[in-house]
Amino acid sequence: MVVWLRNNGRYKEYRHESREDVCRDGAPRRSNMGGLPRHLTFEVESKVLGQLYRPSGKALEQARAVLELEDPHAVNVAWGCNIGCGYCYGPRFSRQTRENWMTIRYPEKEPLELVYRQLTKSSVVDGAEVKGVFISFMTDPYLPQIRRWTEPLIKYLREEEIRVATSSKLEVSEVPGVRNGMTIVSLDRSFWEMYEPNAPSPISRLMELRKAHYEGEYTWASIEPCPCGGIWSQDIRDLLNCLFFVDFLILGKWNYDPRAGTDEAREDYGRTVATFRDFCKKHGIRHYIKSETLDFIEGVDKKEVGRARIDFRRKKVNGL
Ligand code: SF4
Repeated sequence: MVVWLRNNGRYKEYRHESREDVCRDGAPRRSNMGGLPRHLTFEVESKVLGQLYRPSGKALEQARAVLELEDPHAVNVAWGCNIGCGYCYGPRFSRQTRENWMTIRYPEKEPLELVYRQLTKSSVVDGAEVKGVFISFMTDPYLPQIRRWTEPLIKYLREEEIRVATSSKLEVSEVPGVRNGMTIVSLDRSFWEMYEPNAPSPISRLMELRKAHYEGEYTWASIEPCPCGGIWSQDIRDLLNCLFFVDFLILGKWNYDPRAGTDEAREDYGRTVATFRDFCKKHGIRHYIKSETLDFIEGVDKKEVGRARIDFRRKKVNGL
């Protein structure tokens, strides 16, 4: 996608398609999320809020794995989340304080209207045909004040025979044929009270997923951020044993915390990944391990190893 933004009184062209941004003045810049210069990330995201766009970086990795599509799209039905989990990456990714992150910002119009307008104009958005949509990376799509926008959008996308995946800690979709996702990283009550006190309990989330599964719907679970022993001591098998019924599992390490970057944590994640992989194979569950997690346990130095080589190995490890 190419966007035009005013910067220091002048409009410049930015390409929102890779990790590296190219300004028209030729100066490449980097950002950690969305491929845009740091100071412009929110401005750009707010412009596409409620609309179809092509995710990049970590979001692209997640959407590809869940939707099983090479060029997935996403819609952020809002920006921010007031559930306020202690480990939430949202404030970091959106470069704002936790307080600001918990103030939800809404699209100018209903996402259904914005997406309908995009798709009636063309089935190709940002250079790729819209075949699958991930909802949402920058909010929980089932927050009470957003739910009324999320469900009609999903219904419309499914009527257009577009694959849809949701990710939430609150609910699954009532629309049939959706890839319903829930994040559950621990079943411990004390973990929930410490890190996710405003979210439904992990058991309720599990029940919500199970109900959808027994109604014949596709379900998936995200075990991310998975705590290492230095953060929270738990036996991952307890959680996995409760998730035996899902169609897809994704695992990712706890990031941005020095306790998850030690040699001890590396060994710990090595064991967790092996257990996770064995469990999924035994139960025939499609699964994916985040590349950052694999890099960490394998001690990969990205500066020394070519990107293409890493991608090839990841695909191989994940059976793609
Ligand atoms: S539910 Fe998700 S988006 Fe909301 S605060 Fe928790 S981790 Fe962040």
